[in-house]
Amino acid sequence: MPVTFRLFARTSNASTSVVNFFRWIVVTGVASVRSGFDTAMPIVFVPKSRPKSGPEDGKVAMASKKASDIQAVSGIWSGSARLAIIAAGAAVLLLIISLVLRPAPQGIAEVPSYDIRVATLPTENGAEILYRAYTPISEMTLLFPSDQIDRLEIVEGKDKISLKQRGEGVALTGSEAFGLAAIELDYDAAVERDQPVAQVGTSAAVLNMSYFNPVQVNGQAVRDNNSQQLLRWVGAGEPFTNDRIQIFSDIGLPTPVSSLLAPAADQLAGHYANGFGRELSTLPQLMFLFADGNAGQLAVTGEAVASQAVIKYTGGGYLNDTPEMRRLVLFNLAHELVHLWQLEHARVATTTDWLHEGVANALAAEALYISGLWEDDEYLLALETAKNECAAYLGTGTLKGAAGRGHYQAGYACGHMAATALASQREGGTVMSMWRAFSESATQMQGLTDEAFYQFARDWSGSDKFTSSLRSFVISNYKSADRDEVIDRLFAGTL
Ligand SMILES: [Zn+2]
Repeated sequence: MPVTFRLFARTSNASTSVVNFFRWIVVTGVASVRSGFDTAMPIVFVPKSRPKSGPEDGKVAMASKKASDIQAVSGIWSGSARLAIIAAGAAVLLLIISLVLRPAPQGIAEVPSYDIRVATLPTENGAEILYRAYTPISEMTLLFPSDQIDRLEIVEGKDKISLKQRGEGVALTGSEAFGLAAIELDYDAAVERDQPVAQVGTSAAVLNMSYFNPVQVNGQAVRDNNSQQLLRWVGAGEPFTNDRIQIFSDIGLPTPVSSLLAPAADQLAGHYANGFGRELSTLPQLMFLFADGNAGQLAVTGEAVASQAVIKYTGGGYLNDTPEMRRLVLFNLAHELVHLWQLEHARVATTTDWLHEGVANALAAEALYISGLWEDDEYLLALETAKNECAAYLGTGTLKGAAGRGHYQAGYACGHMAATALASQREGGTVMSMWRAFSESATQMQGLTDEAFYQFARDWSGSDKFTSSLRSFVISNYKSADRDEVIDRLFAGTL
C-alpha cells in the first residue's frame, strides 16, 4: 500500500519584530587609516600553548643583542664593554622583574596576546584585507593556500614586508617589525575548492576568514581569541537587521528573490527558536549572493557555519517570479537556517551526513508548511520529490554508502524520508518534536550518531519492527528491489 504523506496542523507564528538598521562599528584606529571600510573587527590572537616568555620579549632580546654587539666590536672584554654588558644585564633583569611583578589582568592574563585588527574592504577586482598590529610584529602566517599565492598582492607595507610560501600557507614577513600590512585578494584568479577562499556575487563577496586570520605570529602558533565569525561580507550596502536575523544582500539579487527573503527568514528563525526551545547565542547572519549564470538557470549553493550562512543563487531563472523559483528559494533558505540551530544545539556526528542533511530537509519542509510559507501541495510535492529521488539513489546501493560513492544528494532525499517516517510513528509527532527529543537524549549518550538514532527510534516509535525497518533502510542494499515499495514499507515499519 503506497504511503500517504500526512499533513500537520499549522500553528500561528506571526512575527512582530521591529525592523531597524544595523550600523557597523568601525574601529576608529583602523578607520583612521583608510576610509570605505565595511568591517573592522578587533581580534586578539592568543598563542595556542603558553610560551615561556611574555610579549615584551622583543625588548629583552634587543637589549641582549646590544650587549653582544659591543662584545663583538671590542673583540676583548674591555672595561667599557664590561660596564655596558653589566648595564644591559641589569636592564634585562629589571625588565624581567617588572614583567613578573606586573599585576595580572583578568582572565587569560598571563598568556601573551597579539592585538591585531583585521579589516576588509572591496576593491575593483577583489578585496583588501588589512592588518593593524597594535604591538609591532615581524612575521605573520596565514592559512591561505600556498597554491593560490598568485591571487595575493601586498598593497600596504610593500617596502617592509614580503609574501612568502610557508608550509601549507603564506606568511607576511617583515625586514623589520611592522604595525600595518594589507594584502589584496584577486577574485578572478579563483581556484575551485571545497571551501572557497571567497564566494563572489555581482556586487559583493563572502570571505572565509579561516584563510585570512593569522595562525602564527612571530613564530608562535596563535588562536583567534574572540572572533567566532568565520564568514565576512565584503560589499556595498547596509545589512538588514531585526531582533532575530541579520541579512546581507548582494545588490544584484533579483527583486523576486530579495523580496521573499527577509520576511521568510524572520518567520523561519522564529519557528526554529520555538521548536528547538532556544535562540542562537549570536544573532544569525545570512548572506545572499547572486551570479548571472545562464538564461532560465536556477542553481543554488548554500553553506552554514556557526551562526552564519551564505547562499549563492546563480541563473536567469531568478529574474522571474515563478512557483518553482519561490519553492527552491524558500526550501534552501529553510534548510540552511535550520543548520544554524543544528550546529549549535543538535550537532550530528560528522560521519552521519545523511542524518544531518536529511533531517535538515525534513525540518525545512515542515517549517515552511507549519509557518504558512508553503501550501499543502508544496509541502506534499517536496515529500514526493524526496521519495522519487531517494528511490533513484537506492538503485545505486546502500544509503549509508551513498556519499562514499559520490551520491551526496542521496542523504538529503532518503534522510528526509527516514526522519519523516520516524516522526510519524508517534501520534501528533512532528519532525521538530522528534528531532528535539533525539538531540536532548542523544547528547547525554554518545552524541548524534546513527546508532544513537536507532536506539532513540525504538523509544519514539515504541516499535521494534519500525526500528529494524529504519536500520535496514539505512544499511541494506535495495539495488534490485522495488524502491518505491521499500520507502512505503519503511513508513509502515515492515521493511
Ligand atoms: Zn545542508
